[in-house]
Amino acid sequence: MFLASVKEAESYGANVLMLYTGAPQNTRRKDIEELNITAGWEYAKKAGIEEIIVHAPYIINLANTIKPEIFELGTSFLRKEIKRTAAMRGRILVLHPGSHLGEGVETGIAQAVKGLNLVLNDNEDDVYIALETMAGKGSEIGASFEELKMICDGVDKKNRLRICFDTCHVHDAGYDLVGDYEGVWQEFDRLIGIDRIAVIHVNDSLNPRGSHKDRHANIGRGYIGMDILKRIVHDERFTDVPKILETPWLSEGASGKKTIPPYKEEIAEMKMGGFEAAMGGTFRQEERIKKQNIE
Ligand code: FE
Ligand code: FE
Ligand code: ZN
Repeated sequence: MFLASVKEAESYGANVLMLYTGAPQNTRRKDIEELNITAGWEYAKKAGIEEIIVHAPYIINLANTIKPEIFELGTSFLRKEIKRTAAMRGRILVLHPGSHLGEGVETGIAQAVKGLNLVLNDNEDDVYIALETMAGKGSEIGASFEELKMICDGVDKKNRLRICFDTCHVHDAGYDLVGDYEGVWQEFDRLIGIDRIAVIHVNDSLNPRGSHKDRHANIGRGYIGMDILKRIVHDERFTDVPKILETPWLSEGASGKKTIPPYKEEIAEMKMGGFEAAMGGTFRQEERIKKQNIE
């Protein structure tokens, strides 16, 4: 599975990739021994792939206060997922902060903080949890920078927390990347700190700003647009930050079946513009993390 992901990323001209350690919708996972890590990395090095990012499955909900067994599943899965990420030589584990399910934002945030502390306080792996900025669909927490800050503030091991900045989600949450690009970064920097961004998910959005829909569009085919997404990819502040596309596959003709991955063309397009920074980032996670230890 790992080797196949690496080969796929290579075919797109990527030098970084994000993967799930199994199906994103469930928590069934193979043993670490079965992941074929050595073969995957041998191939990756030759293909120029230097970094892998792991994304935790969607169904983990650390903000759940209604069903203790779901919260418990979330924390026990996350403990193992950190181990798997470390075994796969990943440094960054992307996690959705969770949904409060009607119990209120503060209750949800307190529960997510509790879960993160349960998982991190007795863990010493060299893995960072990158909380993803969310679109605010349903009862998702972490759609505003304030909410993400509250989670970061509540976690004991602050240095283990990072942010995954998803452009579609931030736009859907209401932030005006198109009309007030610098204003959004200033606000993010004031509340959380730009140095905390460990991954950027580069996606266009099918819906207008503030729609809270979370439907990704291909680059240049949504409400954010090519110019702003290119500006982010080539922004010097993010040169060393890996950039991951989560854009939808394309369908061939009128069949409606999505069979064509857009990534090769989108990566090539994003690289254009005469900038040093390439899609995927010239990533030096080690140096970057050393620079930005947060206590
Ligand atoms: Fe995500
Ligand atoms: Fe994302
Ligand atoms: Zn999304």
